[in-house]
Amino acid sequence: MAILITGIGELTTNDPELGKLRNAALVLDGDTVAWVGPAAQAPDADERVDVEGRAVLPGWVDSHTHLVFAGDRTAEFEARMAGQAYAAGGIAVTVEATRAASDDQLLANLCRHVEEATAQGTTCLETKTGYGLTVADEARSARIAATVADEVTFLGAHLVPPGADAESYVDLVCGKMLDAVAPHVRWADVFCETGAFDEAQSARVLKAAAQRGLGLRVHGNQLGEGPGVQLAVELDAASVDHCTYLSDADVEALASSSTVATVLPACDLSTRHPLAPARRLLDAGATVAVASNANPGSSYTTSMAFCVTTAVLQMRMTIDEAVWSATAGGAQALRRGDVGYLRPGARADVHVLAAPSTTHLAYRPGVPLTHAVWRKGVRMR
Ligand SMILES: [Zn+2]
Repeated sequence: MAILITGIGELTTNDPELGKLRNAALVLDGDTVAWVGPAAQAPDADERVDVEGRAVLPGWVDSHTHLVFAGDRTAEFEARMAGQAYAAGGIAVTVEATRAASDDQLLANLCRHVEEATAQGTTCLETKTGYGLTVADEARSARIAATVADEVTFLGAHLVPPGADAESYVDLVCGKMLDAVAPHVRWADVFCETGAFDEAQSARVLKAAAQRGLGLRVHGNQLGEGPGVQLAVELDAASVDHCTYLSDADVEALASSSTVATVLPACDLSTRHPLAPARRLLDAGATVAVASNANPGSSYTTSMAFCVTTAVLQMRMTIDEAVWSATAGGAQALRRGDVGYLRPGARADVHVLAAPSTTHLAYRPGVPLTHAVWRKGVRMR
């Protein structure tokens, strides 16, 4: 069935040739965008929806979340807001709760958060394992994630489980754990940071994953400068995420590579770190994605709009840059060309704002502006 969405005041296509259109329309045919152009030239369709001058953009592509979890870390957040520093070890609290939860509980919690994200305009979502940290628990997280998320990442190398020896744990991650999760995931990731995994351990995990045909991602340079960015670039990772502390050499390496620099503004704020230098990365020519890092410890929000607002108001990205980074940028960080765009052939993921232009995302901070959402051609809101 074809749906004509017309009366679009401003249409963000992210397509370099189509650009931004005024008084536009688009046609969804099943799960695909069939036509994009001026409203006056729109073809007929089975159903017609007039959005009365509102802005339309591709659904958000949230390329970084950790939503297979149980439990809560309110107390840790309160302690942080009272002045305690964030450290990687807090992950262990979620690991304990996740291991104790049933499959049904994990699935229900994941679905609740994905629905929350969808209602705010997220139509393509990556999520990770990483709160199991045993072969059985990581495999279970991967299997559950794969039933819901668009993209699933294996993050067995999230933290050395308390009491375990780091080198033996890395052996396990590179061997039996990778074998058990591989059927359910497209990506592997490693938390390359002081208190998590060092450069040599991170490289071992990434190389073992690449040998099994998985794409690579890296958590790097979150809590201080470190080897994460350089390692990601060397191994042609699709993305290195956080990028809060970057040397000039890191910025240069990203600018001359196809590795996307994914910034996570909500996480920087929630851990009371400086915001990642997105402006510096863009000015150097790097590709920047904006994602939520939704997780119960360091960034408990599914709101991509909040991330975009922060990217504009505090990281000095322009509106267009921030919107691109949270849609097409996220798609590039997942090496996908079918989402993050509204052009013929793209997936029918449409976000209608309760506003005449995307400028309102930053102009009206904190105001819920999602008016309607289609995902794969199905109206979600
Ligand atoms: Zn993360």
